[in-house]
Amino acid sequence: MKDRETKEILDYDRTHLWHPYTSMKQPLSVFHAVRADGVHIELSDGRRIVDGMSSWWSVIHGYNNPKLNEAVEAQLQHMAHVMFGGLTHTPAVELARKLVSLTPDGLEKIFYCDSGSVAVEVAVKMAMQYMYAQGTPRKNTLATIRSGYHGDTWHAMSVCDPVTGMHSVFTGRLPVQFFAPQPAVRFGEEWDDRDFAPMAEIIEQHHEELAAVIVEPIVQGAGGMWFYHPEYLRRLREMCTRYDILLIADEIATGFGRTGRMFASEWAGIAPDILCVGKALTGGYMSFAAVLTTERVADVISSGNPPEFMHGPTFMGNPLACAVANASLDILINNSPLQRIAEIENLLRAQLAPAAGMKQVTDVRVLGAIGVLELRKPVDMATMQRRFVEEGVWIRPFGRLAYVMPPYIIKDHDLEKLTRALIEVVGETD
Ligand SMILES: *Cc1c(COP(=O)(O)O)cnc(C)c1O
Repeated sequence: MKDRETKEILDYDRTHLWHPYTSMKQPLSVFHAVRADGVHIELSDGRRIVDGMSSWWSVIHGYNNPKLNEAVEAQLQHMAHVMFGGLTHTPAVELARKLVSLTPDGLEKIFYCDSGSVAVEVAVKMAMQYMYAQGTPRKNTLATIRSGYHGDTWHAMSVCDPVTGMHSVFTGRLPVQFFAPQPAVRFGEEWDDRDFAPMAEIIEQHHEELAAVIVEPIVQGAGGMWFYHPEYLRRLREMCTRYDILLIADEIATGFGRTGRMFASEWAGIAPDILCVGKALTGGYMSFAAVLTTERVADVISSGNPPEFMHGPTFMGNPLACAVANASLDILINNSPLQRIAEIENLLRAQLAPAAGMKQVTDVRVLGAIGVLELRKPVDMATMQRRFVEEGVWIRPFGRLAYVMPPYIIKDHDLEKLTRALIEVVGETD
């Protein structure tokens, strides 16, 4: 593309468009993407860079995927959209079947919505309406663990980490929730009972106020890229059941194979009462999410007064989104990527191991198709981002974290390019 055109695009963008978590006055520079195919993103200057982010956990089968394209195009010939009030359609029902069969047992009632954050709001509303319907309306608070991330809408924000999250700006307006410390026992380490004690104490002391505990199972994503022990989840499952508290698993980032299991909850062999999925649900093609719950939760809500569950977005069950989600799940079901993800995990482990000896790096951790370097100092995002692009890769660090989580279809040589660039660029920092 011509330089002038790109310059105009970037100028207008800089003047008028907000990007995620940026200032309008001092925005970090952005790159002009013109095309994406497989694991490559093409920039307007012709450079093709290897995607290490899966566009934030979502593009698991790669860009411009023929099967997903075909699903969208075929659905387009039938209908792009139709309201879900009073109408249903085959893509929505097919997707429900697949989700029920793929997710942990007992999750059989499905609510479709627009995005991950909205899914979290829906899950929280479900938990609260459940408590209201069963006559325990005082149980209307949430508990969670520190360093979580659950999205940018109101209740979602209230359970994001109170320090690194967005609480400071909105204090006094956000609902106040209970926070247990981040689990300290790592995935793969020996379990220590003391790790669960603070959460146990919160539940014992406050169960009469608690509607639900919400967590990202096993892998905490945007709040710190931290991997914790499955026993924590098993304990949590037991206590939630004992004290009539619903367990909400936010698998918006971890769902659909990323951690090496189809759902991260499987590492603990547990099923939540409410499950949120999003991001990779459509293979990263469009914004869409789903909330699954049990027959019991649905029954209690539907036996209440009012019996209706109080939510119903305009684009609920959008047929295009359902169609592409169906195609994405078909790939997962018929051509399971779990074997490849295990290979990616081994390669990441081997290739990132040398980083453990670097003075800039305090920790190296790998699980499934996620490889993380935790750094001694916060990154200079602008410089690092530019350097990664110069090295031919798309890696977007934040805070003290530089990490990769590539599409599952990545080839060995492209994965190596990612890890080499990661080590190289981190090594240039002081
Ligand atoms: C991304 C994310 C969300 C929010 O999803 P959006 O689609 O960005 O609204 C919620 N929870 C987790 C764990 C996420 O990673």
